[in-house]
Amino acid sequence: MEDYPRTLADLERRFSSEVACREYLFSLRWPDGFACPVCNNREAWEMSTGHWLCMRCRRQVSVTAGTLFHRTRLPLTTWFRAIWYVTSQKNGVSAIGVQRVLGLGSYRTAWTWLHKLRRAMVRPGRDRLHGEVEVDETFVGGEEPGREGRAAEKKALVAIAAEKNGRGTGRIRMARIPNASKKALHGFIRDAIERGSVVHTDGWASYGGLDAIGYSHDVTAFKGKPKDAAVAAMPRVHRVASLLKRWLLGTHQGAVRNEHLDYYLDEFTFRFNRRTSRFRGKLFYRLLQQAMQIGPTPYREIIKPQYLELG
Ligand SMILES: [Zn+2]
Repeated sequence: MEDYPRTLADLERRFSSEVACREYLFSLRWPDGFACPVCNNREAWEMSTGHWLCMRCRRQVSVTAGTLFHRTRLPLTTWFRAIWYVTSQKNGVSAIGVQRVLGLGSYRTAWTWLHKLRRAMVRPGRDRLHGEVEVDETFVGGEEPGREGRAAEKKALVAIAAEKNGRGTGRIRMARIPNASKKALHGFIRDAIERGSVVHTDGWASYGGLDAIGYSHDVTAFKGKPKDAAVAAMPRVHRVASLLKRWLLGTHQGAVRNEHLDYYLDEFTFRFNRRTSRFRGKLFYRLLQQAMQIGPTPYREIIKPQYLELG
């Protein structure tokens, strides 16, 4: 049974204390009761400090140890409000927005929190897309008109996969890829789409050979045809690409650095795949649940540039 606040008032009422937040996190981390992260023992004493004392290895364990909230210096009540704010806004929020709404003293804290939360937006071992899937690549970011001088960055190439769901769009996956080579595109498709699916692409040569790796390849060649022929034949990936670009320019004002783009793609995907969810509280629940499953990410690791590995 998924238990989450339905409204902001509900959130304020339920999570007004550290104890209430900790108890909620406990139920997400250990739904079947305490399990010591060191020795796996299930018996523990709850201490007045909010820690659990393992009866076997005597380790004192906090419910947030080894999770996204590891050693956080700010109260969990503030984190809960940040997560509510992030998940309740349809288009997401900027670091400035979070700083303002929560009254955080530092922009860096707000920025770091958002990046930590983005890392929790991808569930480890998530399902691949299946059925009929459109795949395309698009350039994102880079130079902006009227911003010469500081626009030294090149555009990033992003691969997009979008499931067909009748006439509409099902789930999506996205990843930044180094180039439009066969290796990169096949890697993305293997990563994002279940074998046996129908993969619909344009006639770009790098998509060739998908049949040999277990997909049914549906090609529409657009060479020599008007530009909107591609949009008409693969409307879902084109719509997703334009929504992504609008979101990066709108909510984030185009200020996303290429080395952080992967995490913005994850956030966009998290929101897009839950866009029809009736209760925004469900996103709050899911994000907190995933935050309890991923390890801590220190600031220095967030600022470290990295490339997404594609197998
Ligand atoms: Zn133990």
